[in-house]
Amino acid sequence: MIARIGLLMLVALWAATANGQPPSTIVVGLEDFQTAQHIRCQAVNGTFEWIVVNYGNLQTAGALESTQRIAKTNRGFTVTTQTGELESSYLILKPTRGFATVRLISEPTGYRQYTGAVHFYWHAGEWHVALETDLEDYVAGVLVSEIGKGHADALYTAHAIVSRTYALNTFGRHRFEGYDVCDQVHCQAFDGVSTVNDTIRSGCRASRHLVLTDRLGLPIPAAFHSNCGGMTRSSDAVWQEASPHLEPVHDAACAEGAHARWERQIQRAAWEGWQLVHAANPTNAASSREAFNLPSDRFDVMLDEQTTALTGWGFGHGVGFCQEGAMKRAQNGASPWELLTTYYQRIRLTALERVTVPKVLGASGM
Ligand SMILES: [Zn+2]
Ligand SMILES: [Zn+2]
Repeated sequence: MIARIGLLMLVALWAATANGQPPSTIVVGLEDFQTAQHIRCQAVNGTFEWIVVNYGNLQTAGALESTQRIAKTNRGFTVTTQTGELESSYLILKPTRGFATVRLISEPTGYRQYTGAVHFYWHAGEWHVALETDLEDYVAGVLVSEIGKGHADALYTAHAIVSRTYALNTFGRHRFEGYDVCDQVHCQAFDGVSTVNDTIRSGCRASRHLVLTDRLGLPIPAAFHSNCGGMTRSSDAVWQEASPHLEPVHDAACAEGAHARWERQIQRAAWEGWQLVHAANPTNAASSREAFNLPSDRFDVMLDEQTTALTGWGFGHGVGFCQEGAMKRAQNGASPWELLTTYYQRIRLTALERVTVPKVLGASGM
């Protein structure tokens, strides 16, 4: 763990190098907390200590007391402890030993619980908060944020494989900010582990260390979305980047899903004004989706005098694993492997230790 701290400090020097072994830990940017002026920290399980990183030297600076407040300074963070004021461009809240859970509280994020070490650092003109945690804890937290509780076991097992694969495939996306992935939907939603229950943990355990790969052992781009609206889409059609694993499939299973159909009313003047400027754009539906915050870019348009009525289907980009289709299939008895092969093509299940991950972060135990 400590060796990685040096890596975080040397973020600007990181560059894509040769492929490497997959990591057992992951560094997740906690982006909601990065905007907070101050964050309260409390130990939930185990004990934590503060570490000051000063020009590469690590100094233990006292235990985390019951509740402590870490605040932004001009170019770093400060925290008041019993032994005095700690101020540094880089502070770490690190478990004293083994497993420990910390609660972070801020406005407007509220509170979240995480296992592992929390890094607070100033880098490239910005404040950053990043969690260094076990890959499996991260996957369990992603499942609860992405699909919630109350589904069939097979869905959790399959989605754990999808989320683990997706994380490994996108590793290094945020290397210039100092972390592997962010906790927003940009990567995968991750709101910590406070609501992870036994079903979710056992789904992760059942698939522990399994990753979807191509025949060379590289993790596939395991895209997923809420509801495809009846047919998934190729990555070529959506991102102009063909993948042999992401081809369209018919999916009747999501027809009853919560996000199968949607309707929106938009002021006709606003809609037409925007279309007038952007109509020549070939990705018009996709940009309309973004501009008007629509659930998907698949919709029909009806105009009347005042309003534009949109009737759409699906939620999300529609590429790869359809969560609501998979929920229904799992409920009807499909196995995790059936779920995965329904939505992805030409895949293999490979043990994590045999997967090759593009080594952009040096995060694999250096
Ligand atoms: Zn991200
Ligand atoms: Zn679907």
